[in-house]
Amino acid sequence: MLGRMMYQPLLISSLIEHAARYHGDTPIISKNTDGSMSSTDWAAVAENAKRFANALQALGLEQSDRVATIAWNNHRHLESWYAISGSGLVCHTINPRLFPEQLIFIINDAQDRVVIFDKTFLPLIVGVKQHLPQVEHFICLDAPDDAVREKLPEVQFYDDLIAAQSKTFDWPELDENMASSLCYTSGTTGNPKGVLYSHRSTLLHSYGISLPDSLNLSAKDVMLPVVPMFHVNAWGTPYAAAMVGSTLVLPGPGLDGASLVQLIDNYKVTVALGVPTIWQGLLAAAKQSGSTLESMNRNVVGGSACPPAMLKTFKEQYNCDTIHAWGMTETSPLGSANQLKAKHELLSPEEKTQLRLSQGRPPFGVDLRLASAEKGTDLLPRDGQTTGNLQIKGHWIIERYFGKEESALTSDGWFDTGDIASLNSDGFLHISDRSKDLIKSGGEWISSVELENLAMCHPEIAMAAVIAASHPKWDERPVVIAMKVPDSQLTENELLDYYADKVAKWQIPDKVIFVDSIPLSGTGKMLKKDLREQYGQVLMEAPV
Ligand code: ADP
Repeated sequence: MLGRMMYQPLLISSLIEHAARYHGDTPIISKNTDGSMSSTDWAAVAENAKRFANALQALGLEQSDRVATIAWNNHRHLESWYAISGSGLVCHTINPRLFPEQLIFIINDAQDRVVIFDKTFLPLIVGVKQHLPQVEHFICLDAPDDAVREKLPEVQFYDDLIAAQSKTFDWPELDENMASSLCYTSGTTGNPKGVLYSHRSTLLHSYGISLPDSLNLSAKDVMLPVVPMFHVNAWGTPYAAAMVGSTLVLPGPGLDGASLVQLIDNYKVTVALGVPTIWQGLLAAAKQSGSTLESMNRNVVGGSACPPAMLKTFKEQYNCDTIHAWGMTETSPLGSANQLKAKHELLSPEEKTQLRLSQGRPPFGVDLRLASAEKGTDLLPRDGQTTGNLQIKGHWIIERYFGKEESALTSDGWFDTGDIASLNSDGFLHISDRSKDLIKSGGEWISSVELENLAMCHPEIAMAAVIAASHPKWDERPVVIAMKVPDSQLTENELLDYYADKVAKWQIPDKVIFVDSIPLSGTGKMLKKDLREQYGQVLMEAPV
């Protein structure tokens, strides 16, 4: 033998062991469902994870059984994650904002044997319970409470369960390719599909997102994942935080701007992560309270395109660098993050801002390419101009959906994301749209995202969605559904005029509909499918 290096499987249990041993006294701050705050640390999280792993074992679960969680970001939820995956079970995170039918569908599809839930979701559980024949145990993530027991007599309480168990547990030596967690796509088309992550993919993703040119995470950070733990595992942050030993501030149910400003200022948060609608709320609350968000040196925007005005406001008014990132449930999620290179120092501030608005470039571990829509796998140039179907491959990218026999990949092994994008020679990605949101006007494509971004640059627009409305002559034409800022007198024509010097004439939307609110998905994204159902025919009724 020439000699060789040690082999150690990449396991989630090793993350929590590392955090406990080397960052044991690093705080984990958590807002409870009742609004009170808890402060614990990595050592105590690890200890409770072991106690809960013992409790799960006592339930007689077998390797790879699914355990569902329906909970906000809080420390008990975090402990339960490490207990479940660390002991060889699969942690199935569920979005509590799903409709009951969707909830029933995915719990049955996943064949969850245990459902763990925050007390606030008791009515949800009681409402669907009779449709979940294979769920054997319900565990409330809280202290014992008779009011809960009254509605759900078989319930067990997390605090009881861990109190009864030993704090020692030997994490099993699992195969690193075993499943560790399960997350369903939102199912905007058809039923939701499960994406099953492995221990290996999760650890490699944690390294990937922590890199300096990704989110640049370290033991100096105080990290606030506003993105819920049920939205692609809070983008992997609870794992990466244990890997690098950062403090976590878990916001519980308080995702409104004012609550977030308070958490950021009280706990000196250095990095926070969320979808654009979250930042909109935060910026409005910061402005109102006069907070300068002093500790926060960067924020991560993903899930939907970052409106240009937002990036500018964070930098100019709060001295906070916005990292624009792209990904999806099928990609764990990080596919790209926006950090400039040394050569970009020479660019003018304007050019830098332009580049920072793109979705960034892939970290080592994933690869991106563009395929032609018409010719299937024909590859397109990386010239920063040509747009095509974005495809991805890598260590933390899906191969097949949960319970499906067939591969989810192209014949040559890439995953087609359903996004339309361009890439430049450095790999900077620019998403022009989701293929299903593109507007096909007289045979030409119009990007709904570009038109939304422009509308949101208007000082009197709070939020805007652009949809493809059916049109008798052009097939589809853009229509803006917009929410004005309070007290604005802005008119339809004024907003349409605003587009005049910013896009080609044929791309100017046909109509503006002002609304009081725009429906958001469970993960805080604008529900354009619903808007399309509601307003998709407005031009047929009165073509312009
Ligand atoms: P869903 O949006 O269906 O709930 P995902 O969270 O998996 O499910 O969403 C992934 C999709 O979100 C991507 O395919 C892309 O269309 C969109 N997306 C994510 N990040 C960005 C971004 N930074 N800019 C534009 N679109 C994004």
